[in-house]
Amino acid sequence: MSNTRVPGFYRLSPKERFDIVTEGRNLTDDQLKHLSGENPLSMDLADSMIENVIGQIGIPLGIATNFKINGKDMFIPMATEEPSVVAAASNAAKASYDHGGFFTSMSGTIMRGQIQVLNVADPYAAKAKIFEHKDEILAYCNVQDPTLVSLGGGAKDIEVHIIPTNSQIMLVIHLIVDTKDAMGANAVNTMAEAVSPTIETITGGKVVLKIISNLADLRLVRARAIFSTEALGGKEVVDNIVSAFEFADYDPYRATTHNKGIMNGISAVVLATGNDTRAVEAGAHAYASISGQYKSLTKWEINADGNLSGSIELPMAVGIVGGATKTHPVAQAALKLMGASSAEELAGCIAAAGLAQNAAALRALSAEGIQRGHMSLHARNLAVMAGAKKSDIDRIVAQAVKEKDLRYDRILEITKATQRGE
Ligand code: NAD
Repeated sequence: MSNTRVPGFYRLSPKERFDIVTEGRNLTDDQLKHLSGENPLSMDLADSMIENVIGQIGIPLGIATNFKINGKDMFIPMATEEPSVVAAASNAAKASYDHGGFFTSMSGTIMRGQIQVLNVADPYAAKAKIFEHKDEILAYCNVQDPTLVSLGGGAKDIEVHIIPTNSQIMLVIHLIVDTKDAMGANAVNTMAEAVSPTIETITGGKVVLKIISNLADLRLVRARAIFSTEALGGKEVVDNIVSAFEFADYDPYRATTHNKGIMNGISAVVLATGNDTRAVEAGAHAYASISGQYKSLTKWEINADGNLSGSIELPMAVGIVGGATKTHPVAQAALKLMGASSAEELAGCIAAAGLAQNAAALRALSAEGIQRGHMSLHARNLAVMAGAKKSDIDRIVAQAVKEKDLRYDRILEITKATQRGE
């Protein structure tokens, strides 16, 4: 695998960057064309993916550099419309590289399917009966997905929860399913639906909802990295980063924005690999508030050497098979380029991107403030909004940054003046 430290990567043309990151990745000609955007998604495929299709929306695909994950250099594909995200992840990853990069682990690839049973006269007895029939229930679930079972996955266990609500007592059965390299929603939903009549017979109740839970607390990914204090700007900046984390951990107003920054990195990789951004986001935010208070998904400390030590832990229900991961040609190519060969490895890369993103955001906030780093990218967006020609953009951005004035009205004036040849 190529070294992901590519000095001056951001100064290269898209084609030059493309050649560097795809070299030696064994991408087919078709995959290369999909990845570069030369072959857009076909309308037939788009029409088969969702309903009422009329077109498609392009999102830029960038590559974060400098990532070493579990000892392996990996280019990280990120699909996002937000400026600065890819640059920030790459910068933070650079500060971790010489300290070994990111180390990740996963608690497993287990998802929960929920089956809601109403009108059970004796829920505690019903709970006991469900466990008496556990083997039969699991076997029936597993008949639904021989492929998953042949790979060592499938329904493994059952939990029964009794939930007293305002109006009734609900019995909620959790199917504990190992979905291996799939995110697993379809697989789990199919099992939950199929086994419901059996559950009704056993409990005497009425099954209504049968669906996966996105609070994938049995599919937790963890990542950690050491970031060089010197590279981040020194001891004061790093002390400020730790205080910024404590602020987020104690204050939900701050934590929401803190975690939004983490999700900038996470959702971009989730989207680039054709995974379900909403599933991961719902799980992340629910997990952030699992203690009863919405908290930071990351932890920041200063290690014995005086460097910044960061870690992240969150549910990561992503796959490398199933859903759009297999049907979307760009997602397939992005995954191959990255070189993640299992759902577990992909989850680790996503967590690393989230941790790096948070390091970069906290560094900027703790040092010069977030807007300075964003200035030229923000000015570029505003110039495009103002209708600037591509050939004029650099000049308009340089002028706005020199004036330190990023108001839209001023950029519009500069754009108009440039167009008048002034
Ligand atoms: P899927 O059904 O397309 O693919 C999973 C199947 O692939 C497995 O059931 C198995 O039979 C087969 N398979 C082949 N090789 C495998 C391997 N190595 N590991 C595991 N399985 C393998 O997809 P899915 O992952 O079950 O569902 C994901 C899709 O469901 C996503 O598109 C998601 O958006 C959607 N979805 C999500 C929700 C939710 O999150 N609440 C609800 C409904 C649907």
